[in-house]
Amino acid sequence: MFNLAKLLNKIYSAETPDLKDMEQVLLLTQKGQLDELFSFADNIRKEFCGDGILLRGIIEFSNLCAQECFYCGLNKSNHRLKRYRMTENELIKAVDYLGSCNIKTLVLQSGQEEGLDALWLRDIILKIKSKFNMAITLSVGEKSADEYRLWKQAGADRYLLKIETSDKALYESIHKGMSFARRMACLDDLRGLGYQVGTGNIIGFAGQSLKTVAKDIKFFKHGNFDMLGIGPFIPHQDTRMSQDPKGDAALCLKTIALARIVTKNTHIPATTALGSLDQDYRVEGLKCGANVLMPNFTPQPYRKLYEIYPGKRCVDEPVGNCNFCMDSMAKNIGRFIDYSIGDSLKFRDGSRNKGKPSPLEGTVLL
Ligand code: SAM
Repeated sequence: MFNLAKLLNKIYSAETPDLKDMEQVLLLTQKGQLDELFSFADNIRKEFCGDGILLRGIIEFSNLCAQECFYCGLNKSNHRLKRYRMTENELIKAVDYLGSCNIKTLVLQSGQEEGLDALWLRDIILKIKSKFNMAITLSVGEKSADEYRLWKQAGADRYLLKIETSDKALYESIHKGMSFARRMACLDDLRGLGYQVGTGNIIGFAGQSLKTVAKDIKFFKHGNFDMLGIGPFIPHQDTRMSQDPKGDAALCLKTIALARIVTKNTHIPATTALGSLDQDYRVEGLKCGANVLMPNFTPQPYRKLYEIYPGKRCVDEPVGNCNFCMDSMAKNIGRFIDYSIGDSLKFRDGSRNKGKPSPLEGTVLL
């Protein structure tokens, strides 16, 4: 008879998790088995990360984008979207507010802006670092190693660049003019420069099989990433993938659970996309392995314009204090909000950069 506990223990203990084993878990549909999987993953989250839920406050400072990701509402061919870039003053004001809510990680995100002035962003990083006690995560896409170095030297701590799918052919078929090798090279540059590096995938692309998802998880394990963002595909009306069905919440939760079991002490958010399906699945995410929430601090009218997919959670609300909402979400499941800076646990235990050189000393060419 099929023994799920045995299978989960095998996956947990494996240096290299077996793809077939993971596929078997991704296939589960029976409630009893799903409960067993989620509680197994939740115990690992508790053991490695504790009961605290870390907060990452996100400011989407620009929706300008030079890329053509077929699923994303920001893609450059979407001429219906009104484009913006916040001014330095607007940005600092938003950071000020975020800091006043006791948030200690700021995520600065934008589309992949061709014209993004690296020195402008560097000066903003310097200003934020001199004024506030917070970690900065950048998420501005594929850039040169020199730009990454410049921002790291200015004080940026972390970088988020999702691989979206670890299947090269699928990746290149939905990212026009982009190369999988370049994405991987960027992740290598970031790691080499000493950033805490986050990546992740989207669940539900047409052409993505359970094997592909299992391979994503294997990729996460081998890359020893500090953070993993796993969220469902949500079709956007002004993209080539507007008619594709949205990603399955249950598959998303199973992927989060497996990523927790396999990667153990990685920070995993219950993503905004997971909270933007027919119902808010972020609580379910927190109960099957996730340990991070990402409240949105982008001020209006910009928040509405950062429409990567429709129906984004909290998009119509003015910037408000999210602490109450986050606190009650945590309390309802017997957890608490951890207002600490929440650095990578892999940095803390020394397992992160074993044997990796740091080219930070290199000359900045900009
Ligand atoms: N430009 C940066 C980059 O390329 O990493 C960050 C901005 S990008 C808009 C942020 C993330 O939005 C992507 O990594 C992708 O996973 C997610 N995203 C975009 N469109 C989406 C969609 N339709 N459904 C779900 N997630 C989506």
